[in-house]
Amino acid sequence: MSESVPPLLALVTAGSVLLLASLAVVLVALYLAGCRIWPYANCPRCTGSGKSGSPTRKSFRNCPRCKGTGRRIRLGRRLLDRHSNR
Ligand SMILES: [Zn+2]
Repeated sequence: MSESVPPLLALVTAGSVLLLASLAVVLVALYLAGCRIWPYANCPRCTGSGKSGSPTRKSFRNCPRCKGTGRRIRLGRRLLDRHSNR
């Protein structure tokens, strides 16, 4: 009967799932704490420069994604803001 799962294995599996879940909770808490301290990340479009350059790189305009700020608000920070602005 190789199809039935041994109880010990089921217990270990449940334990690892629990462990992974608690680990995920800790990681999310750390991430949210990090988003509270460092709310911004580099804009993915301009990598933080705030410029959208012409092909020659001599002229540029404000990056349309971040409007020239070169930063974006991190997802966790947005969640925190939404939570606090009830
Ligand atoms: Zn940008």
